[in-house]
Amino acid sequence: MSRPASVTDTQVLIAGGGPIGLALAADLGRRGVRTLLVERNENRIGSAKMLEVGVRTMEFCRQLGIASRVRHWGFPFDWPLDSAFVTSMTDWELGRVRTPALGVYRSMDVSPERGQPCPQTWFDPILQECARSFPSVTIRHRVRLDSFMQDDAGVTATLTDLAAGRSETVRADFLVGCDGFASTVRDQLGIAVRGDPHIDWSMTISYDYERRPASARAAEVSLQNYRRLTSAAQRAEILSPTPAGDAARRAIGAGLVEENEKSWHPVGVHLGHVYHPSPIVVPNGTPAPADDTFGYVPTAFPGARAPHAWLAPDKSTLDLFGDGFVLLAFADVATEPLARAAATRAVPLAVHRIDDPKIAALYAARLVLVRPDGHVAWRGDALPPSCEALIDTVRGAGARVAARRAAPAAAAT
Ligand SMILES: Cc1cc2nc3c(=O)[nH]c(=O)nc-3n(C[C@H](O)[C@H](O)[C@H](O)COP(=O)(O)OP(=O)(O)OC[C@H]3O[C@@H](n4cnc5c(N)ncnc54)[C@H](O)[C@@H]3O)c2cc1C
Repeated sequence: MSRPASVTDTQVLIAGGGPIGLALAADLGRRGVRTLLVERNENRIGSAKMLEVGVRTMEFCRQLGIASRVRHWGFPFDWPLDSAFVTSMTDWELGRVRTPALGVYRSMDVSPERGQPCPQTWFDPILQECARSFPSVTIRHRVRLDSFMQDDAGVTATLTDLAAGRSETVRADFLVGCDGFASTVRDQLGIAVRGDPHIDWSMTISYDYERRPASARAAEVSLQNYRRLTSAAQRAEILSPTPAGDAARRAIGAGLVEENEKSWHPVGVHLGHVYHPSPIVVPNGTPAPADDTFGYVPTAFPGARAPHAWLAPDKSTLDLFGDGFVLLAFADVATEPLARAAATRAVPLAVHRIDDPKIAALYAARLVLVRPDGHVAWRGDALPPSCEALIDTVRGAGARVAARRAAPAAAAT
């Protein structure tokens, strides 16, 4: 245990030390936020669920400075990573997905990274080591979140230190539930019951408009993939040692290999979700791109992940994002009013001028405002009449958010 049970207050309390909780702790740690993560299990992973790290996750690993460690997790660099579909370990091979060795992996055109295997038994410890490297982060295993109460200033949580067998109280400004499917936090918030008055609407509004639809979209694609993959294997002749059996196995194998490509490499799911409409994104009148869960065409449409382009060898546009807001300026237009407006609201904002016509064409506007999560918040050829209003909108304090926050309260009365 990295800190004794005397911890009584923190800025952020994270319940759950799976990959999401650990990544959040690392991200908060690099911002110097005092964070306590509690995980009810011991500090070891029984069996790995995840094997493949998706391309967007690799981009976040790059931001945390651990992408290289994830690439070099220990598997031989010259060993092919083929997957084979078989009827049993000693029986028929139906089809084979050819996957080059880690050593021949290169980044994709649309990203400085690419999806790649790194089993959770290696991935989670890399994340954990990264999180622990920040002095503001404390991680405690065998500590369970039992209950919590929210008030105007924060959250009071009751934990059980399972090793010591005693209960303790923690005061936190924020509690984040990263406690998986059977979540204590979600249960106690009654999140399934939308409009529950315990929910702080200023916190959930961007979730409802942004992450909830993104998760639903990814889950729907997974379900479709699962149905396709399982139905492809439903052929009676699959075990028959006859020419008809050979033909059936070839057909099934080809189908499985094709479906596997759709299941494991849906770049559109990883990179293509656009937060549109969203009360904290400002559209600029251009038509929204068509939704494509398989393919991906880079776009800086407001709400989209800001596209990747190389600024220099091994320096991507994505490397500019993550700390605060970033205003990309592709022409010599005034940016100071927006910088001043951000400063008056204590919103961190950096301005980067990019003198590259190809990247300017990709972003399709002279000014593009990118959020800390790498998604475009606004774009235009000149600053809007009120930069304060723009900053308020994208930081979640604008009129559109206020109107939407009022709506559920009104509905509940
Ligand atoms: C078979 C399988 C294969 C998968 N393969 C992949 C893959 O290849 N690639 C991929 O990206 N994803 C994959 N996934 C999905 C991936 O595993 C999940 O998306 C990921 O684990 C979710 O992480 P999490 O941190 O939100 O939750 P979890 O991993 O479920 O972690 C939640 C943690 O919270 C802890 N916890 C729960 N309640 C409490 C409490 N009250 N107090 C303290 N701690 C608590 C739990 O002990 C647990 O450690 C796979 C999933 C499965 C089931």
